[in-house]
Amino acid sequence: MSDEQAVDLGEALAHLRARAPTPLAIIDVDEVLGLFVQGFDRWLRGRGHELRMTSFRLFGNVFAVDAEAPADKADAQALFQLYFAEGCGRMAVAPGAVEALARVAERAAVVILTNAPEASRRLRGDWLERQGLPYPLIVNGGAKGPVIRALADAAGGPAAFVDDLLPNLDSAAEHAPQVARFQLVADPALRALAPASPSHPRVEDWAELEPRLAAALSS
Ligand SMILES: [Mg+2]
Repeated sequence: MSDEQAVDLGEALAHLRARAPTPLAIIDVDEVLGLFVQGFDRWLRGRGHELRMTSFRLFGNVFAVDAEAPADKADAQALFQLYFAEGCGRMAVAPGAVEALARVAERAAVVILTNAPEASRRLRGDWLERQGLPYPLIVNGGAKGPVIRALADAAGGPAAFVDDLLPNLDSAAEHAPQVARFQLVADPALRALAPASPSHPRVEDWAELEPRLAAALSS
C-alpha cells in the first residue's frame, strides 16, 4: 500500500468512525459506476487501436485498428496506463447509478473503492465530482478484501460491496464474509461475457441493485 493509498484509507476510516455505527456501501468504479470498456475503446480509437471484446479480458483484446492479432501485452498495458493518466475522465456514467446511489446515501455511508493506477487519482476524483458522486474515493492496488474489512469494521453496521470482477468479490468473501456482495457489470455487451459465481449474487443493473442494496444495508 502506497502512502497516498494509506492517506485515502485513513481519511475514509476517520470519516466512517465519525458516523459509526452506520450502514456502509462500498462501490467499485469501472463497470459499476462508469462504462469503462466503452470509454477505453473510444480513447483507443484516437490512438489507432480498439478493443474487440470477444472475451472477458482486457489486455488480450486490444488491437491496432487494422491488425488481426492483438497488440503485445506490454503495448496494451502501456495504453491502459496512459488511458488512466489522461483519458479516464471522459467515461460515461452507468445508467441510473447516480440517482440510485444518492438514495442509498440518504441512509448509509458510501465509499468508492477503485483498483486503478495511481496516475488516475485526479481525473477519477474529478469525474466522480462532475457526475454527482461526491463520496470518499480510495485508489487501491491489489486485493480489495483487507480494505473492505477495515472499512466495514470502522462503520460498525451492515455493509455491502459491489464490483464487476469475481477476484475482487472473492477477496471480499475471504477477508470480510459479513459484508454482502453483489456483482454488477454495467455494460450490457460485457455483461454477457462476464463469468458469474454462485458465491456472489449478480444483478443486471442499478434498478435491480438498489433494492437489493437497501435490503442488505437495513438487515
Ligand atoms: Mg470494476
